[in-house]
Amino acid sequence: MDNNDFLKKVISHSKANGFIFQSSEIYDGLSAVYDYGPYGSELKNNLKDFWWKSMTQLHDNIVGIDSAVFMDPTTWKASGHIDAFNDPLIDNKDSKKRYRADVLIEDYIAKINSKIDKEIIKARKRFGKKFDEKVYRETNERVKNYISQTSEISAKMNDFLKSNDLKGLKILIDDLKINDPVSGTSNWTDVKQFNLMFSTEIGSTSESSKKIFLRPETAQGIFLNFLNVVNSTRVKIPFGIAQIGKAFRNEIIARQFIFRMREFEQMEMQFFVEPGSEMKWYEEWKEKRMKWHNALGLGDNLYKFHDHENLAHYANAACDIEFNFPMGFKELEGIHSRTDFDLKNHQKHSGKKINYYDQKSGSSFIPYVVETSLGLDRLFLAVISSSLRNEKLEDGTERVVLKVPFEISPVKVAVMPLNAKDGLPEKALKIYDELKLNFKTQYDYKDSIGKRYRRQDAIGTPFCVTIDYDSLKDNSVTIRNRDSMEQERVPINILADHINKFTSINNLLKKI
Ligand code: ATP
Repeated sequence: MDNNDFLKKVISHSKANGFIFQSSEIYDGLSAVYDYGPYGSELKNNLKDFWWKSMTQLHDNIVGIDSAVFMDPTTWKASGHIDAFNDPLIDNKDSKKRYRADVLIEDYIAKINSKIDKEIIKARKRFGKKFDEKVYRETNERVKNYISQTSEISAKMNDFLKSNDLKGLKILIDDLKINDPVSGTSNWTDVKQFNLMFSTEIGSTSESSKKIFLRPETAQGIFLNFLNVVNSTRVKIPFGIAQIGKAFRNEIIARQFIFRMREFEQMEMQFFVEPGSEMKWYEEWKEKRMKWHNALGLGDNLYKFHDHENLAHYANAACDIEFNFPMGFKELEGIHSRTDFDLKNHQKHSGKKINYYDQKSGSSFIPYVVETSLGLDRLFLAVISSSLRNEKLEDGTERVVLKVPFEISPVKVAVMPLNAKDGLPEKALKIYDELKLNFKTQYDYKDSIGKRYRRQDAIGTPFCVTIDYDSLKDNSVTIRNRDSMEQERVPINILADHINKFTSINNLLKKI
């Protein structure tokens, strides 16, 4: 199955099993906007819980806030978003499709990179154990040529982006003979800048109303509350403010499912430090965040760092944690050293002093900021795409199973009476009523046990508990593990402890 087919499978599984639906589907859908269904919202809440606790509960110097989506519009002037939150867009005159010029070029580079990967796979087969990838990359003429092509193209693109040279970008697209994947032609318009912020109006009368923006990142809500937090709590530098919330961007290319949405959720943490110490904290947060991702247990080999060459207007260092999505390695989380850019500009535009007074040294300064910014929806896609499996069973049948980490699974346990008679449902309902106080639990009595197992496998439920005739006598049940499919007998009085041992979010928190 190729990557595209696999992504389609993830999308259809998500829809058929109540994880994610296209927004406004009955009106033919709103592009790049999605709704989370019953199991999707549970899974998403569990991911939030893991992040929130890891930030605000495990660190005594990180506090959480929940700021509004609407802010005074000057916020976005100060942050640079009104002037610089643009993407270079280009239209194909034949297909009438719109693209991001830099993404077209990046896709072109990705094609060359996949040629390099193919050469390496072939060579590895040919040379066997003796194969040294580093030496091969440095000596094979064809691979060397590909590598120099990609670095030349990406250096040119970064220069054009940095200097806002839109004509240069267009010439590069023409020189590389990049065609529209839809029309197949290179009949392009000029490249134009497009601001990604959504705007609306606040106020009831036309005279009093004013144009405001839907926040394109949650970070500014943290900066605007910096003084409030310092003055109302006992935080001392270095300290962080964490927030989970919606962000809105009018993305030019809206594809790849929940990877790039127009309304999405971010989990951001701004860490305020003494100027000059930011690089130490930047390195520390890079390490901490990778450890956090690895604690989820999706597979350490699925993540890698990617350092930014083309820095955003506010940063003096930046990198992404990339994840191996069905479309290949792409940004999952950004880690940015944002200097004092934001606080300094809010001070300038608001006229309010935003200083931090350090009692120890007796000095005042505007703190520097290291930010970790994780897209919740991208994290969701990472989890669901790396967990969805088709497994061949010993009896020759197949099962579709969502091997999400037990701790974040939407439903933790399903309670199933073997039959719908002879007192089994009554016994099962008693157990269900007990378990639901502790866990998201389902009561499932319809169809054969085999069918019920398949249903729970598809939504990733770690445990299925069956109440049979023996249960009426020995007060024990059979508990089946989703992954090993092994079944064991467990006394009812220790059932909750048993499930908790394997599904508690604390298991993840202990790993970081
Ligand atoms: P990209 O380069 O993919 O557009 P970005 O660098 O603009 O992303 P940031 O501004 O660093 O993204 O935002 C932080 C995080 O928010 C990203 O790492 C990503 O996980 C998430 N994110 C950003 N834009 C979107 C979007 N349109 N849909 C879903 N998640 C997003």
